[in-house]
Amino acid sequence: MVTKSVGRGEVTFKCYRCAHCCFFTNPSDYPIVLEEEVEALRKLARERGIKVEFIKLTPPFYLWVIKGFCPFYDIRNRRCSIHSSKPTSCSMYPLILNVVTGEVSVSLLCDWVKENFSEVAASNPVTVFPNEFSKVIKLFKRLRSSKGGSSEQ
Ligand code: SF4
Ligand code: SF4
Repeated sequence: MVTKSVGRGEVTFKCYRCAHCCFFTNPSDYPIVLEEEVEALRKLARERGIKVEFIKLTPPFYLWVIKGFCPFYDIRNRRCSIHSSKPTSCSMYPLILNVVTGEVSVSLLCDWVKENFSEVAASNPVTVFPNEFSKVIKLFKRLRSSKGGSSEQ
């Protein structure tokens, strides 16, 4: 187990790079992406001769339709080939946003979460997922600015 104790049984998320979150069999698990991310992904796909498909949801969200491995997953090197420009939903995973309720939860499909479930359930998610939580904060700021609120970044 590759986890780090941070006191009172708490753990810090450490991705196993198992790729389970880059392989899709169930539409309910498809990534939710922002409209500007759709444009960026389409551009990257065009440059690589890849086909990408999105379904428009309530603005500013789209559903990214991926069957099997994500077209940007580098199977040979077991890594995301667009790491620095991957969409927010990938950066914040295993934290996931419910676009209907606005709630953020922890995905039970992540191997690390499954293995550390009891510690995760007993811990503060901000402590367990510091990097991913910072992406959630950034996402909420983005959503707030699109609703005409503060444009603070
Ligand atoms: S963009 Fe990268 S992290 Fe996101 S699903 Fe595709 S390969 Fe995985
Ligand atoms: S399922 Fe979890 S542990 Fe596996 S690659 Fe995705 S985030 Fe990392």
